[in-house]
Amino acid sequence: MRALRFDNRFVRELPADPEAENHVRPVHGACYSRVMPTPVRAPRLLAWSREVAHILGLEEADVRSAEFARVFGGNGLLPGMEPYAACYGGHQFGNWAGQLGDGRAITLGESINARGERWELQLKGAGPTPYSRFADGRAVLRSSLREFLCSEAMHHLGVPTTRALSLVGTGETVVRDMLYDGNPRPEPGAVVCRVAPSFIRFGNFEIFASRGEEALLERLIDFTIARDFPELAAEPDAAARRIRWFDEVCRRTAVLVAHWMRVGFVHGVMNTDNMSILGLTIDYGPYGWVDDFDPDWTPNTTDAGGRRYRFGNQPFIAHWNLWQLANAIYPVVREVEPLERALAAYADVHDSSYRDMMRAKLGLAEWRGGEEGDDGLLERLHRLLAAGEVDMSLFFRRLADVDPAAPTLEPLAEAFYDPTRRAAVEAELLAWLRAHGARVLGDGRLAAARRAEMNRVNPLYVPRNYLAQQAIDAAEGGDMSELEALLEVLRRPYDEQPGRERFAARRPDWARDRPGCSMLSCSS
Ligand code: AMP
Ligand code: MG
Ligand code: MG
Repeated sequence: MRALRFDNRFVRELPADPEAENHVRPVHGACYSRVMPTPVRAPRLLAWSREVAHILGLEEADVRSAEFARVFGGNGLLPGMEPYAACYGGHQFGNWAGQLGDGRAITLGESINARGERWELQLKGAGPTPYSRFADGRAVLRSSLREFLCSEAMHHLGVPTTRALSLVGTGETVVRDMLYDGNPRPEPGAVVCRVAPSFIRFGNFEIFASRGEEALLERLIDFTIARDFPELAAEPDAAARRIRWFDEVCRRTAVLVAHWMRVGFVHGVMNTDNMSILGLTIDYGPYGWVDDFDPDWTPNTTDAGGRRYRFGNQPFIAHWNLWQLANAIYPVVREVEPLERALAAYADVHDSSYRDMMRAKLGLAEWRGGEEGDDGLLERLHRLLAAGEVDMSLFFRRLADVDPAAPTLEPLAEAFYDPTRRAAVEAELLAWLRAHGARVLGDGRLAAARRAEMNRVNPLYVPRNYLAQQAIDAAEGGDMSELEALLEVLRRPYDEQPGRERFAARRPDWARDRPGCSMLSCSS
């Protein structure tokens, strides 16, 4: 693994927790604490991403070596690694929650690849840190596999995301919230190595603002700009630079959430500590994929009451989270108006990105807004998809196969979950398809070009909850082939893959209310 070279700017340029001992406590005046991963009993490589290995310059032989499982399971370091846990807080479910992390993530180092790119390597589930609060710093195979799988799937879907290099089994068990006969069930543990240019979150800034540690706040902001937003460095005025940075964060977040809405991804726990400063999808916990279209759906069982993080609410929550970040950085900007302008830009960028993605999903050449126009068309469709219990991914994918001149429901048959619900919307949906068909024909585009564009934004394969669950069930029994097959298919989510149709199927009835498939919480 000689290809891995490190240049650890975060630990070199930012202040460290002076206390060396690893025990749980509030950490003041520091951006991070140095902490070693806690070794595990029997680290074993369970899965890896060849694309991420390639980015880092690792060969297959490197990844399959005993040393790899040792290092990426938390039992050893490579030369140049300087492990630490970052200090951050966050707003959880709308309330300030104080210091939160990194409770179970430990960064190993910032690797510089052959192209000069910086990729931070971080272990999740590597044992306790000063930020672990009441928990053990570990993660179960179930949640680690879900993070590994979805990170890579999101990348291939074209959604900004942190990546995952490896999934390493620990050979230990962890007790979590899965109830079996009324008792928590011990589950196999695992460690994911996740990879991103930076794991800095909104909460890294909020914690210092909440404590009035303004000098530290300023240092972290300027560090983040210098390391992760070098294109802004040309701005000579510090305050103006910070404002442009916040504006850029707003814009990236806006595009990110538009992508989530395009593919039917529900993050599930959009607390401010789970918002990446780079506009990446981060922290795959109780996330889920929309099967039957429902803007009110959330996969997070701990959010079942308020449904704050439901599918349709994500654009508003991201905006609320950006408000919290604006509040946090205000002390080092000291101007309200430019922050408000950036927040307004969030809404504009989100709306225009979302509209353009929906335009492509519907196969239209341009968006003609208004209630009588495409806004109304989309709104009516969403109402019908929800009322008719129609699968989101399959509907949009198969819409490309509907003949705009003589539409029928035939190409869409597999998208319906319930014959009664289908019957209730059939007439209206046909009328909608006719209106849509007329609109498409009015564009005058070649059918093949339109279909090709639609197929580039309407995925056929997404990591549906039940598919991940099948891979988890197999993996817990020692069989990794189901995860490998799923990962393989998700590498090309927009391509028809003959022989792999089962991965495109709508959620089967058995998975509708199955505990463990539908019950997801944050800290597993
Ligand atoms: P989450 O809602 O998943 O973002 O979790 C909030 C915070 O709780 C994280 O930032 C972690 O620091 C912490 N946390 C979650 N699970 C664990 C765990 N098993 N051990 C220690 N800390 C945890
Ligand atoms: Mg988190
Ligand atoms: Mg989490």
